[in-house]
Amino acid sequence: MTKADEFRILGRRKGNEEPIRFEYQGVAFDQECFHVVAGLNAVDTREFTERTFKALHAAGQVCARMGAYKPRTSPYSFQGYGKQCLPYVFEAAGKYGIRVISMEVTRDEHLDEIREALRATGDATGVMLQIGTRNTQNFELLKIVGRQKDFPVLLKRGFGITLSESLNAAEYLASEGNRKVIFGLRGVKTNMGEPHRNFLDFAHVPVVKRLTRMPVCIDPSHAIGLRTRGSEGILDIMHATAQGIIAGANMVLVDFHPAPDQALVDGPQALSLDELPLLLEDVQIVREAYEKRLARLEPQLARGSAQAS
Ligand code: PEP
Ligand code: MN
Repeated sequence: MTKADEFRILGRRKGNEEPIRFEYQGVAFDQECFHVVAGLNAVDTREFTERTFKALHAAGQVCARMGAYKPRTSPYSFQGYGKQCLPYVFEAAGKYGIRVISMEVTRDEHLDEIREALRATGDATGVMLQIGTRNTQNFELLKIVGRQKDFPVLLKRGFGITLSESLNAAEYLASEGNRKVIFGLRGVKTNMGEPHRNFLDFAHVPVVKRLTRMPVCIDPSHAIGLRTRGSEGILDIMHATAQGIIAGANMVLVDFHPAPDQALVDGPQALSLDELPLLLEDVQIVREAYEKRLARLEPQLARGSAQAS
């Protein structure tokens, strides 16, 4: 069985119980925070990128997702615009008050390219480096990303390995020096999840928060992969989002696109920008429900600590 003791730095162990807390670009991250990180799975044209940031800004958001480097199953699929898009992504982010952009990297050059482009735009925004599910056990990449402390890291769980193996991957980052790590659940690969793209693993939100000191992110877009709706009309992606939030998730990473049918990657799972206010409203309802569940526990916890002392 997985024990917190395995994870020397990030594990929630006796004498090492304080949750990891950090602030980046004025945004705080810990096991109590709550942020929505919505945006483009793959960075698109300058116009689509700008429209996405504009909608996020109008909805009061300060975080976004933007994939410049896309690891793809097929070598013939679009691989992402790479460093070529970074200037307009960072510039537009700054213009619309977006402070943190979650962006996947797959090699060390990507960090240099990001640093360089941020500098060139006068540090208009900040970047959270994302390690994708296909690279969860790319140990050399983990060491490289773990050795730098400028950027926090969102590490996705590996889609075909145990939870414990993925938590060890996070520990690689911390053991190299970077403790600003958020752990991301995104579903696991099995045909048992069909018709969804992956099998939802959001029941692991409280498990990761119990075993480790990391904030936990959920990615309902990659878990579900489709825009299907329940019989009452609610999108499966929104149901999945709700399941993660009601269990205490600290962050939601979710794909949006101004024109989902034109998205360059993962169009079938992208929500349209018109749906952003609806998702945010739904998210708020569920987050409030989670907070009510916590408040209900308070008298009980107070009694418990009074008895213990
Ligand atoms: C992504 O978030 O863009 C992504 C590719 O996710 P994952 O690594 O979980 O498949
Ligand atoms: Mn994807």
